[in-house]
Amino acid sequence: MILINCPYCGEREQSEFSNGGEAHVARPKNPEALSDKDWGQYVFYRSNPKGIFYERWVHTHGCRKWFNAVRDTSTDTFLKIYRLDDNRPDISEFKSTLKSPSGEPSVGSGNFAVKK
Ligand SMILES: [Zn+2]
Repeated sequence: MILINCPYCGEREQSEFSNGGEAHVARPKNPEALSDKDWGQYVFYRSNPKGIFYERWVHTHGCRKWFNAVRDTSTDTFLKIYRLDDNRPDISEFKSTLKSPSGEPSVGSGNFAVKK
């Protein structure tokens, strides 16, 4: 059983929550000026890293509020949970927490390629 620490309610079982995908995806300021390809990139393309990932979560069966989390996708460990009005934590804060069970590189396996 995985517990998630809702910033509004405290620790609850993961089954009460829903994942909302990647966090901090900026909406284009001028969407009508984008090409279909660029709009498609914005709407459909997301990172899928093995390692540190910034995600949105919602406490679906609780307070129904959205929040952000930093999760290590290789171990399903929540490293930090923060409210939407909090600043995005710097990734350097978490690099030392990564422990790859298979001994693979914990960071730098193409997870943070520069977005176009
Ligand atoms: Zn809650």
